[in-house]
Amino acid sequence: MKKKPNYKLRRNMAKVILVLLILLPILIINRTKILNLTVYIPNMKYSSIIDSMFEIGYTKDEVESTLNYLKEKNKISDETQNYILKLDSKGYKKSTIDYLLRNINKTQMTEFLAKKYNKDYEEYIENDLFDYSKFERYLAYQKKHDKLSVDEVVFRIELNLDKTYYEDSTIVKDPDDITVLTNKYLEIPEDYEPKDLVDMDSKYANNTYGQKKLRKEAYDAFVKMVDAASNDGVTFYAESAYRSFSYQNKIYKNYIYENGSEKAEKYAARPGFSEHELGLAIDLANIWTITTKGEEYKWLSKNAHKYGYIFRYKEEWEDITGYSAESWHIRYVGKKIATDVVNKNMSYEEYYIKYIANKKNN
Ligand SMILES: [Zn+2]
Repeated sequence: MKKKPNYKLRRNMAKVILVLLILLPILIINRTKILNLTVYIPNMKYSSIIDSMFEIGYTKDEVESTLNYLKEKNKISDETQNYILKLDSKGYKKSTIDYLLRNINKTQMTEFLAKKYNKDYEEYIENDLFDYSKFERYLAYQKKHDKLSVDEVVFRIELNLDKTYYEDSTIVKDPDDITVLTNKYLEIPEDYEPKDLVDMDSKYANNTYGQKKLRKEAYDAFVKMVDAASNDGVTFYAESAYRSFSYQNKIYKNYIYENGSEKAEKYAARPGFSEHELGLAIDLANIWTITTKGEEYKWLSKNAHKYGYIFRYKEEWEDITGYSAESWHIRYVGKKIATDVVNKNMSYEEYYIKYIANKKNN
């Protein structure tokens, strides 16, 4: 008797052969595609771009995320594949290529492709604060300051240190913010006056030539700090605290009159650019003035941050702050940030750019 053919087995075999017929050409052309079919099949339209990404070793997740990003931004084009391959052949890493695909426009890409491969470029691009629009400024600044690391160059450009004091300034958006940064590039609005200024008691300030004022939060912390220092046998008080724009203007003009404009620029802030106008800065005194060698300075170095105060102008930061060292000038930024600044041993400029402005932008 003739055996009945096994139709079920045949059907299944036919299915397997059919699937193999579809997969085999793909398998032969590019094995990575098989491994990444989930990305490949739904994005057949962009197969050439996916091809080049797989070719230079993007993982499945990386291809998917970059592809989605580019689709969202409508940046998918035939040129994209070209860019990937060209950047790869120049020697750039895939993280660099990915950054460029996501962040720069056609004109910028053409410019970038015209440059020779440079390892420094990758270091710039990997920096947290990297901004392509500032690329030429980084390179120009590094040329002038060849001892600085890429990291130092990037945050200095973020501070606009390559620009001219006062001329290239911007007005700070929120002068009421306790963490606000002001310097020779960041200007306080002329009509700004803190709403919570309080009179300082004569126990804590020299009020002989006029009532000293400070913002309430800064004053409360200052009182605690002076009392604590006093318990340790160390005495200091505020010789200067809040100054209005017009008062700062008087001081500045007077300084020029007495010392000449070159010295004035180094020691006195122009009106609109002094931390004293924020109501958060104090010039300390103890009969004469606080010096780095004095016991007051030593006490403050150890303890001021516990009350939310930091030194703003130290010798090692002069090229960043634009001011000569001031061992008597302290600034209130709040306990948490003051402690962090001291632990990181950074100028407030560097800290602000890396940890405050950076977070806000994200
Ligand atoms: Zn001061």
